[in-house]
Amino acid sequence: MENCLFCKIVNGEIPAAKVYEDDAVLAFKDINPQAPVHVLFIPKQHVASVAQPQDATQLGELFLHAADYARIEGHEAKGYRLVTNHGDDAGQTVHHLHVHLLAGRQLGWPPG
Ligand code: AMP
Ligand code: ZN
Repeated sequence: MENCLFCKIVNGEIPAAKVYEDDAVLAFKDINPQAPVHVLFIPKQHVASVAQPQDATQLGELFLHAADYARIEGHEAKGYRLVTNHGDDAGQTVHHLHVHLLAGRQLGWPPG
């Protein structure tokens, strides 16, 4: 989709620190990390948010790959958080579906 930041990352128009990639999913480090580990998992296909997924597989893949990455990187024992924001009240700033993986510190709850 034109003018979508994350589509530009998928297309290689904007660089990103990629940590995982397959046919459907791309994961890269957040440019403004909120924890020692802050990785974004996105579908390569443009989808605006969790409110408009293509199907359950698309959503499931993001969470499964994020959990896999957290396990491989050694964060399963101490814990991590997966979160996705939809809309203004949740603070969504990029309107291309993404799941945040946050790990590496004690995370506050409830989130702000
Ligand atoms: P959200 O506020 O849930 O829409 O999350 C968007 C996230 O994208 C924020 O955590 C930003 O720091 C992150 N972000 C914005 N631009 C980039 C970029 N070029 N590369 C990596 N992460 C980015
Ligand atoms: Zn997009």
